[in-house]
Amino acid sequence: MNAPAVNFYKEHGVDLSSEMLEISLCAQHNNGGLSVDLWWQTNIPGVFSVGEAAATHGVYRPGGSALNAGQVGSTRAAHFIAAKRRDVFVDTEGFVNILKKNLETSFNFLRSGTAGREKPQNLIVETTERMSRVGGAVRNKQAIESAINAIRVELENFSERVWFDDTESAIGAIKYRQILITQFVYLNAMLDYINCGGKSRGSALYTDFGGCAPHDALSSQFAFQLESAEAENEIQEITLENGNCKITWREAREIPEEDSFFENVWRSFRENGNVY
Ligand SMILES: Cc1cc2nc3c(=O)[nH]c(=O)nc-3n(C[C@H](O)[C@H](O)[C@H](O)COP(=O)(O)OP(=O)(O)OC[C@H]3O[C@@H](n4cnc5c(N)ncnc54)[C@H](O)[C@@H]3O)c2cc1C
Repeated sequence: MNAPAVNFYKEHGVDLSSEMLEISLCAQHNNGGLSVDLWWQTNIPGVFSVGEAAATHGVYRPGGSALNAGQVGSTRAAHFIAAKRRDVFVDTEGFVNILKKNLETSFNFLRSGTAGREKPQNLIVETTERMSRVGGAVRNKQAIESAINAIRVELENFSERVWFDDTESAIGAIKYRQILITQFVYLNAMLDYINCGGKSRGSALYTDFGGCAPHDALSSQFAFQLESAEAENEIQEITLENGNCKITWREAREIPEEDSFFENVWRSFRENGNVY
């Protein structure tokens, strides 16, 4: 905490040098997400992802620049689309046809309907609370493993468990299923990180009983060790294939040397608008 903040508390009767301060946590950033290239295009051609949904924030949050990062990503995606994807424009009818085809799985799923007993809205609350407990700022290997197993069972028994019979609950059911799948992938990424020897870093504390707690008043649940600086150059990539996660690691790409000499930038701008 910075000095003016400490003083602010002191002026209001709270001396942080001798008193504990109760805090509540919330997620400020998604430091991971859909993999994108330098035009914010995902591995599905024509699908772009920017902002918190894109994996452009890295280990640490980008220090007050997330909004700019979203704007830069959107602008670059727009430049790329304008320069490279005009020829793949589909008309409304074509778009609806593609949409119908892709929604068929969801329609089949909705037709399977009303076998379960539990309302998706309640299940969403339960599952998001579990994710906050297990995959939030304080993470523990056993807790993550048991959440992964629970989610796998919930996905397998989805139609026996979930009840929906109107539009609102059907949308809730789809949302609940998507949340489960997302949590499954994120938790598997965390588990793999631990299994690969990963330690606490960024804003995540991984319980490590070989380490020490940050304060005497905190239990061993908060014991941790810090990750080494070199490991921050490693990027973990995860894909979901037939219900299983496939995980690989690679080095971060080098930041390219900029050639911002005016004549060169102007020449390439006239050649390709600097979209390549
Ligand atoms: C407390 C806090 C403080 C922050 N401070 C800063 C700061 O000082 N500077 C900075 O640069 N950044 C800051 N950030 C981060 C910044 O606010 C975010 O990175 C940015 O707003 C993300 O924009 P986004 O469009 O990617 O996502 P969001 O702003 O989260 O937009 C996603 C939208 O999608 C909607 N949505 C979600 N699910 C569905 C669905 N199924 N169907 C339809 N719509 C859906 C949501 O309602 C939401 O409107 C802060 C964030 C937090 C939480």
